[in-house]
Amino acid sequence: MTDIVNTAPDPVVPAPWARFGDDAAIAIRDVRVICTAPDGIRLVVVKVETTEPGLFGLGCATFTQRPLAVKTAVEEYLRSFLIGRSVHDIEDIWQAVFVSSYWRGGPVLNNALSGVDIALWDIKGKIAKLPVYQLFGGKCREAASLYAHASGGDIDAVEENARALMADGFRHVRCQVAVPGSATYGAHTNQDRRAGRSYATHLQPGDARWNPAAYGRIVPRLFDAMRQRLGEEVEFLHDIHERLHPMSAIRLAQDLEPYRLFFLEDPFAPEDNGYFPLLRQQSSIPIAMGELFVNQAEYVPLVRDRLIDFIRIHISDIGGLTPARKLGAFAEFFNVRTAWHGPGDVSPVGHAANLALDLSQPNFGIQEAHLFSDRLREVFPGCPEIRDGSLWSNDHPGLGIDIDEEKAARYPFPEHPLNGGWPDIRLRDGTIVRP
Ligand code: MG
Repeated sequence: MTDIVNTAPDPVVPAPWARFGDDAAIAIRDVRVICTAPDGIRLVVVKVETTEPGLFGLGCATFTQRPLAVKTAVEEYLRSFLIGRSVHDIEDIWQAVFVSSYWRGGPVLNNALSGVDIALWDIKGKIAKLPVYQLFGGKCREAASLYAHASGGDIDAVEENARALMADGFRHVRCQVAVPGSATYGAHTNQDRRAGRSYATHLQPGDARWNPAAYGRIVPRLFDAMRQRLGEEVEFLHDIHERLHPMSAIRLAQDLEPYRLFFLEDPFAPEDNGYFPLLRQQSSIPIAMGELFVNQAEYVPLVRDRLIDFIRIHISDIGGLTPARKLGAFAEFFNVRTAWHGPGDVSPVGHAANLALDLSQPNFGIQEAHLFSDRLREVFPGCPEIRDGSLWSNDHPGLGIDIDEEKAARYPFPEHPLNGGWPDIRLRDGTIVRP
């Protein structure tokens, strides 16, 4: 009679960083989360520290509406999962983290994964002594063309803000105007933005109701005025922000055709992706879509079927640079251009990651600008530079950006009853509408 021998492997995996035969590998020593809000917008940055003294990476994990959920996901689940792994194995780590929760994806887990993923690309660049865009194949262009936001309470104010941006060298301007008496998306001004008042913090619960019909009437008037006053050379953009019923959005797209927009953004909510074929049949206006997508099942069909012209993912919301560079390359095959989401609720680390893609992918379209405040630049030394309407890399190894943790700690998350969440936006009868 033979003894029963338990041949199951030891559950403790020894030295995982040596798995691929690289004995000299550098391992992850710690994973930390840094929360800061220099401009009043809640930012989450992940710092991956290594066994190599002084070598670390930074990644953007900013989900500004639920930042503390991301922090918990990193600290309570990813940290112990990652310590000891080789910093070299970015793809392997991405795949392992993605499936380790079994139920995967979603903005919280994708942002947590993104913080680690972008930090590992930063580390790889530092080891190679190359900027991350060099790891992706090198520059296709000197700098990334930007568009900036001209918003205002009325058409004259939008014109004034657009002229100021054009005087600063911007050739692409997003125009949004307030619907009088209505809680309009994007109508807060550059002054609000510079003072750190994001849209969500700007609006208080119980603010004015939303009037979609009035919005559908005022936007064509806005662009008619902008074209007459600002001429043909400037490129205009507009964001519907999923605020209309689908057929009203299609009607607006048709109404805007004479003004030759560079793109019309988020005509539908992600839940209404099925309307894109209908929009394509009805209008030739270029479409940008994607900042709310978190799953490839949402965006792959739109690219594959050539239903959009610009893919506009918030890269931390799909899991960081690893999936975003694949998506950019996939979109190239369909002549869909990139326009990565880049507002104030992307940290400067995230903007540096966007820029690595912008510089290296041939099908780059445009990059959304955030006008970095002096406070942000102090907290994030090496922040990409905005010059002549373009975003410029400093060409330092990795992402070329750092965080001053002492200064970051001076800007804790602001006290607010919604803790970063969007306020209710309602129709006149009280029905909730999309933000
Ligand atoms: Mg948008």
